[in-house]
Amino acid sequence: MKTAIVFSGSLQSIIRQAAELNGYISRNLSYTEEMEAWIVSAQEIDVKTIGFSHQITCVKLARVRTNHVAEEYLEAITKIYECTKPQILVFGSDWFASSLAVRTAYRLKGASCIGVKSSQDDDGCLLVEKAVYSNHLTAKLRIRSSPFCLSIAKGFKEKPELAAEPPEVERFALGSSLRTDWLLGYRCEQTETPEGLTTAKIVIAVGKGVGSKEQIPLLEELTKHLGGELGASRPVVMNAWLGMDRLIGASGSILSPEVCIVIGASGAAAFTVGIEKSKLIVAVNHDEKAPIFKMADVAICVDYQEFVDELIKRLHAE
Ligand SMILES: Cc1cc2nc3c(=O)[nH]c(=O)nc-3n(C[C@H](O)[C@H](O)[C@H](O)COP(=O)(O)OP(=O)(O)OC[C@H]3O[C@@H](n4cnc5c(N)ncnc54)[C@H](O)[C@@H]3O)c2cc1C
Repeated sequence: MKTAIVFSGSLQSIIRQAAELNGYISRNLSYTEEMEAWIVSAQEIDVKTIGFSHQITCVKLARVRTNHVAEEYLEAITKIYECTKPQILVFGSDWFASSLAVRTAYRLKGASCIGVKSSQDDDGCLLVEKAVYSNHLTAKLRIRSSPFCLSIAKGFKEKPELAAEPPEVERFALGSSLRTDWLLGYRCEQTETPEGLTTAKIVIAVGKGVGSKEQIPLLEELTKHLGGELGASRPVVMNAWLGMDRLIGASGSILSPEVCIVIGASGAAAFTVGIEKSKLIVAVNHDEKAPIFKMADVAICVDYQEFVDELIKRLHAE
C-alpha cells in the first residue's frame, strides 16, 4: 500500500511529530510499498531540520497562510492527495493532527481511526489496534474504506534508521481562495516547562489522595529536592490543583522516567498507561488493596503525609 506521513503545524510540532511518527513507521509500516512525507505548515520548513525515516523517499511541502485555521490544512491535504492518491495517511498523535485525520477521512470519503497502536494490511482492508475503555482493553478493528486516515497513539519512541540524506523535496503551490479573515487574532499561552515532564528522570505523580490544592507546595518542594518533575492524575488537574500540562496518562503525557513515585493515586488504567514504562515505580497509598500496588516495584502502605514528611526530613539531613 502507498502511504503518506502527514506532518502539520508549527516547526516545533513537526519536530515532535517526526520523533513519534518515525517510531511508528519502524514498528508498523513494513508492508507499505511506497512512502512519502507531506509537510503542511504556515512556516517555511527546512527539511534538513527534521530527521526522516529512511523509508520516506519524497517530501511534499505545502505552505498555508496561518497555523490556526484547520480548513486551510484540509484544503492542502486534499489537494496533495488528488495528485498522489495514497491508500494510507498517517498523522501525529497530538489533538490537532488527530482532528485532521478524522476530517480528512470525511472529505475523502475514506475511514479514520485515532490513537492507533499498530496497523496491518489485511487484503485491501486495514487491521488496526487501539486502546479503548480508558485503556482497559485493546480493540482490533478492520477498517474498509480507503484512504485510511490514522492518527497514532502517543508514546512511540523507537529510534528508526534515518535517511542519510534528506529526501527529494517537491513544493506545492496552493493558491487558496479560502477566507481566513474571520480570524481576528490569536494569542499563544506559553506553559512554563512544557517539555520537562516527558524528559524528567525522576517524576512524582500525585493523585486525588493528596487531598487538596494546599498540599501541592509541599509536594513541589519534595520534587525540587529530588531534582524531578511533578505530574498528576486527572482529578488533580480537573480540580486545578495543578495545570493541565501536568496530566499523566491516556489523556496526557506518556512517561518513561528512571523513577516514578506515585502518591495518592489508585492506579486506574487510564493513569497507569502514562507511567508503566518507568524503570522503577514506587507507590504510596494508605489502602493496601489499591490497584497501583500490583504494578509497583516498591509498595509503601501509609498515609502519604507520613511518607512525604519523612522523605523531606531525610533529604534535609543529607
Ligand atoms: C476516557 C478517559 C480518559 C482518562 N484519562 C485519564 C488520564 O489521562 N489520566 C488520569 O489520571 N486519569 C484519566 N482518567 C480517569 C481515570 O479513570 C481515574 O478516574 C483517575 O486516574 C483516578 O485518579 P486518582 O487515582 O488520583 O483518584 P482516585 O481513584 O480517587 O484514587 C485516590 C487514591 O488515593 C488514595 N489515598 C487517599 N488518601 C490518601 C492518603 N492520605 N494517603 C495515601 N493514599 C491516599 C486512595 O486510597 C486512592 O487509592 C480517564 C478516564 C476516562 C474515562
